[in-house]
Amino acid sequence: MKDITEFTCIEYEVPEPGIARLWLNRPATANAQDTRLLYELNTAFDRAAHDDDIRVIILAARGKHFSSGHDLGEKEWYETMHDYRTVAPVCGFACAGAERQMAREEEIYLGFSERWRNIPKPTIAAVQGKCIAGGLMLAWPCDLIIASDDASFSDPTVSFGVNGVEFFNHLWEVGARKAKEMLFTSDALSAEEAQRLGMVNQVVLRAELEEATLVMARKIASKSRFALKMAKKAVNGAQDAQGRDVAMQNAFHLHQLAHTHWLKLHDLLVDPNGLPEATRKALGLDRDKS
Ligand code: ZN
Repeated sequence: MKDITEFTCIEYEVPEPGIARLWLNRPATANAQDTRLLYELNTAFDRAAHDDDIRVIILAARGKHFSSGHDLGEKEWYETMHDYRTVAPVCGFACAGAERQMAREEEIYLGFSERWRNIPKPTIAAVQGKCIAGGLMLAWPCDLIIASDDASFSDPTVSFGVNGVEFFNHLWEVGARKAKEMLFTSDALSAEEAQRLGMVNQVVLRAELEEATLVMARKIASKSRFALKMAKKAVNGAQDAQGRDVAMQNAFHLHQLAHTHWLKLHDLLVDPNGLPEATRKALGLDRDKS
């Protein structure tokens, strides 16, 4: 088991005092999330959380797109899971059946997203381009989202036979009716629509995304660190009092049932008939030209 001592999939920087900025840095894959990237990101969030000089954390992305989601091309992950120091008391990575996949998703998908949501410091996601499925699981745990005008947000998982991404926060992001539309159709929300629904705080021109995010971070960093922590706890606690955390667990277990269903039918985690088309649609690719 090894600790991560250097980053290869992300960058960590302090652009100015009090502000940490984490960059997703796999632009060639539209910042697809493999195991390594997620553990690096978790280590970076911990570093920023533990550093008392850091008051605000920005999550940004290199390249055209924020994130294309989980790296579904990653095979044999179970052989490397034990290389990482797990953050949750989970077991079963090397086991058979549904146990192995559930352990992985409890740790690096739902587990990480919930953990980052509860970092006791304000976090801001700066989102450009596509933010697809697992991409939502990086943006949604952040306290604020600033999007560029070219950003779009989608969860196309129903198209390949799953109820939604592992961090099932749709209801608390866009409301029940829009959440159903988003899930049932796999259609993307534009930045403008996401702002109107309250999911996004600001929409800015692509060229202004970095500066607009820093302006917001600066404003927040000038406030009391302890007051910010308490304000965040108060809002997150209110959402959980509405049943958010219980609903999240329920949706996660349905998600595991869906994986088990497709494993039984096709020895794959998702419906292979829906996946290529859903991915193509989510990436905005034209069927005839690609
Ligand atoms: Zn899953």
